[in-house]
Amino acid sequence: MTNYIHITVDFDWIPGSQKSVPKLFELFQKYDVRPVLFFTGSFATAYPEILQQAMRLGYEIGSHGLNHGLDDNENFGIHTSYERQKELISKCTDIIAQITSAEPVLFRAPQLNISSTTFEVLTELGYKIDSSVPTRRFDFGGGSVNSLKYFANPCKPYTIPTKNGTILEIPPSACLLPLNMRLLRTFPYQFVRGFSAILAKIHHPLVFYLHPTEFVQISKMKLPEGYPKGFYSGCGEHNFAALERFLRLLQDRGIRSEFMLRDKPQVVL
Ligand SMILES: [Zn+2]
Repeated sequence: MTNYIHITVDFDWIPGSQKSVPKLFELFQKYDVRPVLFFTGSFATAYPEILQQAMRLGYEIGSHGLNHGLDDNENFGIHTSYERQKELISKCTDIIAQITSAEPVLFRAPQLNISSTTFEVLTELGYKIDSSVPTRRFDFGGGSVNSLKYFANPCKPYTIPTKNGTILEIPPSACLLPLNMRLLRTFPYQFVRGFSAILAKIHHPLVFYLHPTEFVQISKMKLPEGYPKGFYSGCGEHNFAALERFLRLLQDRGIRSEFMLRDKPQVVL
């Protein structure tokens, strides 16, 4: 059974979602969470004070692309050229670096849509860690991961070689279903308890992710056109209770929260 978890936050570009951040950070402080925050460039531009606060709190800051798909078909899949991917990631890198005075070296692809081209770009730009390739996840057509190619991947961090060097992949945990906030707010607590115990036996470490959007009512956010409304229908402040219960469960099980960069994860060779 694993004894540590990476709790990660994806800041998609949805105005209104920033309202949940104070309470989110409060919970992180209360439960000794060492979060890794992935920001889209547009979110960082609109709310630089949130990145500054995260820095003061010592949280790790990474990149989540530029606009989460809104900027002229932002996409890190196999059909997007090296130049285009480099342009998108460079822009976000620069935005974050201007605010934090440090270039981010952690990356999570929007929608977990990533390709070998992206790894080449990331290593050229000096990125050290990616967390976008979910091991053992399959969405059965209902989500963004519908390929069996991830099934045989390691359930531990592993290195991906590229022409420019290597990058460490820390896979988001899954066993068909992913370990994320949507699971916590969709399934009964008993299920979450049992499922997370199974995952803790398979994955080392656990990697959990959530979105600030999930704690804000849909009517209080400005959802960009084309966003799947279904995902946001159960969003609201009431979800903090589910998150807090999960953080307490981790504490009870002796699973501590760690940073991705500073706490140096164990690597599969
Ligand atoms: Zn996202």
